[in-house]
Amino acid sequence: MKFEEFKYERPDLETIKTRTNEQLALIATNQSLEVELAAINKVFEIEDDISTKETLVSIRNSVNTTDKFYEEEQNFFNEIAPHLQQLQTTFLKKLLDSSHRKALEKEFGTLLFEKAELAQKTFSPEIIEELQQENKLSTEYSKLLAGAKIEFQGGTYNLSQMRPFMQDKNRETRHKAQLAVSSFFEENEAQLDRIYDDMVKLRHQMAKKLGYENFVQLGYDRFGRTDYDFKDVKKYRDQIFESVVPLVEELTKRKAKRLGISEPKSYDLALSFLSGNPTPKGDSKWQVNNAKEMYHEMSKETDEFFNFMLDHNLLELDAKPGKAGGGYCTYIPEYKAPFIFANFTGTSGDVDVLTHEAGHAFQVYSSRDHIPEYRWPTMEAAEIHSMSMEFLAWPWIHKFFKEDTDKYKFNHLAGAISFLPYGVLVDEFQHGIYENPDLSKTERKALWRKIEKKYLPFKDYGDDAFMDKGTYWYRQGHIFGAPFYYIDYTLAQVCAFQFWIKSQEDHQKAFDQYLALCKLGGSKSFVSLIESANLQNPFKDGVVKEIITPIKAYLDKVDDTKL
Ligand SMILES: [Zn+2]
Repeated sequence: MKFEEFKYERPDLETIKTRTNEQLALIATNQSLEVELAAINKVFEIEDDISTKETLVSIRNSVNTTDKFYEEEQNFFNEIAPHLQQLQTTFLKKLLDSSHRKALEKEFGTLLFEKAELAQKTFSPEIIEELQQENKLSTEYSKLLAGAKIEFQGGTYNLSQMRPFMQDKNRETRHKAQLAVSSFFEENEAQLDRIYDDMVKLRHQMAKKLGYENFVQLGYDRFGRTDYDFKDVKKYRDQIFESVVPLVEELTKRKAKRLGISEPKSYDLALSFLSGNPTPKGDSKWQVNNAKEMYHEMSKETDEFFNFMLDHNLLELDAKPGKAGGGYCTYIPEYKAPFIFANFTGTSGDVDVLTHEAGHAFQVYSSRDHIPEYRWPTMEAAEIHSMSMEFLAWPWIHKFFKEDTDKYKFNHLAGAISFLPYGVLVDEFQHGIYENPDLSKTERKALWRKIEKKYLPFKDYGDDAFMDKGTYWYRQGHIFGAPFYYIDYTLAQVCAFQFWIKSQEDHQKAFDQYLALCKLGGSKSFVSLIESANLQNPFKDGVVKEIITPIKAYLDKVDDTKL
């Protein structure tokens, strides 16, 4: 069956409630273990049923945003979401209260119960109104940015359309493009400050209502982080500061030399090579064919997976009118089908979809037989699968980049390293914000600029006074919509680097370890997952330095002025 034939029908909230409550009545009510287990599995089935419908709606709505039917259905799911969350919380509470808890832990593993405990801490019907308010503010932020109309060199562009100009080979074009983008943010400064201030206050209020000191721990708990805390993260950021920042300063100097610039400014950082950034040498069809060959040669598991994606039309890649922006990977439980959504642009980002997003898809495909709660791991672990696939694809990457292959590899590693300080900057900023929710709007900007200078000491905004006062974070959607999320990308990157190192030594062995990790899905927490995969824990002192050493050695060997 092809994706187009996957069937959608609007569910009825009352029916869902009745069906679920019938099963909930059999849990933690002194029934036999067998009855309880059957009821729990029934609840999982109901969850999969609703999640299938919800996912079909969100996919079809993003593939064609002008389709009124799926827009209506999307609104319907937005409305019932808090009610579904409440049902879910009740179900998890029942699991905690069961007299068979020990036996259930044996059946499902203890993580489900740790997650259940977090769910009780982070949700209460008392905060439903705040949660709805928080969603509204997020939507307002997204709409404000999506609606950007920037006049530039005789044309009108949105923010993502401005990106090519900001990477233009002509320095003056880059400079002017940065100033044009900055003025968009300057025009909307009051709005953005107000949205963010409302969000911070709202989140602090929810934390207080739920019995937390401030939003920090609530933010961690909302992501289901069960085995590390803000102290571990602080020490990890320190490692990045000590070991990675000096390397990125060096890489920035090398880039300036490559570009023939003596004093690089912020608008020079997005361009990597004067000869242009590496690009794939064919259209989307050609790239998909190459990916098919690559996954066929990589392993029998990846071959089966990628053919499944192709046979069921689960790759939606080409940009077209009415399609939403961006890219994602999701999963449709009843069809056991991952789905990849993207907008190909002819840049190296296209290949990332076929490696990074396919890495996510391969992981969920490999863990499709887990219970719903374990099909995806927490986000910092989920990004390991995707970022590692980008590296495991290296032996085939010449298929896509041809003469640009060396350029791509250098840029891939150097770019990934250079991202780390920025990633922890975003995290440290948010800790400062939520530990001190009463900072004024000006103090928040000063805080950003201060931390930015610590982690990105080479970032010189030149004559862009608006960015220089500490406003770059306005464009970082995660800071608004998903507080404390960003560190996940950096943690996963440090783990993915380890797969790069392993694959340089023995690709097959690295792949086998990767496959085992994919199969675990989310059945373990972050630190347990990386321990199971024989990866070093980035929170341990000295680990970051150890991991970046061979990467630095590789980059040092490349004569990047010749790329
Ligand atoms: Zn990802």
